[in-house]
Amino acid sequence: RAKELGGGRVEVFAAHMHADVVRRLELGAELQRALAEEQFTVEFQPVVDLATSRVTGVEALVRWWRGSESVPPQEFIRPAEESGLMIPLGDWVLRESCRQVARWRAESWDVGLSVNFTARQIAAPRFVESVAAALEETGLPPSALTLEVREEVLVEDAGQNVRRLTELRDLGVRLAIDDFGTGYASLAYLGQLPVDVIKIDPSFVAGLGRDDTLTLLTRTIVRLGRDLGLTVVAEGIERPEQLELLREMQCPRGQGFLVARPMAAGPADALLRTNLTGLAGPGDPAGAGR
Ligand code: C2E
Ligand code: MG
Ligand code: MG
Ligand code: MG
Repeated sequence: RAKELGGGRVEVFAAHMHADVVRRLELGAELQRALAEEQFTVEFQPVVDLATSRVTGVEALVRWWRGSESVPPQEFIRPAEESGLMIPLGDWVLRESCRQVARWRAESWDVGLSVNFTARQIAAPRFVESVAAALEETGLPPSALTLEVREEVLVEDAGQNVRRLTELRDLGVRLAIDDFGTGYASLAYLGQLPVDVIKIDPSFVAGLGRDDTLTLLTRTIVRLGRDLGLTVVAEGIERPEQLELLREMQCPRGQGFLVARPMAAGPADALLRTNLTGLAGPGDPAGAGR
């Protein structure tokens, strides 16, 4: 009975678990409603060629507008996966961003699109077909789309995931390793997988000019990428000193708040029109290279 000490403990524990399950179910239901009520938007963060300062592409980042506040993806991506919503949400993000970038390309702006995918999204039934259909329906050429995956994706259930990514690669879609250097995958995968791009994790970039080891590691990753014929993108550039060092290392691409923040399609459109990123100096209003 609940009056006995032991039973009481069990009840407290069960109530605790219950609250957790209820919270997750509630968030799942809320996310479901959010998708139906169009509370999600896609923002675009420019990626630039560090040598010329020209925008080469944009990364699509999902936003959830819950009331007037924007909930960070870290807080809803996992719950969305657990409630089964990540598949339709991811599909929506892909279509929405493909449609937008196809429009920009129709203005003859040579801009590529990167979209993030989790392991569970890739493992979903008909993943390859859904990506191919999104490209077909929006008219975005496969070579303009890069799928960003973290190293773990290539380790967990690697057989199937790698097969699926290889199928898309055969269609011309490009593959990027996101947060490069922080995962636990063996570097050997770089020689075995159809990887085109590595994105250096911001934790390395943060140490540029401040920490000798992180600076050396960044330089080493840039050189490794170049020697393997991969495109290297440095993520999380916030300070001019980081930019200067990355340029000196001949890191080909960069992304970060110093360059441009993630932004809605409208402001991104204006930025692409003028190429006015944070890299354009006062005496160089149109940015270099345009
Ligand atoms: P990520 O793919 O590594 O995306 C880069 C994150 O770094 C973004 O955070 C971006 O806003 C932030 N960022 C960019 N430049 C800077 C900078 O200079 N300084 C700092 N401090 N941050 C910077 P966000 O949008 O909150 O996204 C976080 C993560 O959520 C993403 O990391 C990605 O793993 C995931 N994510 C976002 N959108 C999607 C999506 O549509 N699908 C999936 N599967 N995952 C997504
Ligand atoms: Mg990413
Ligand atoms: Mg990243
Ligand atoms: Mg990240």
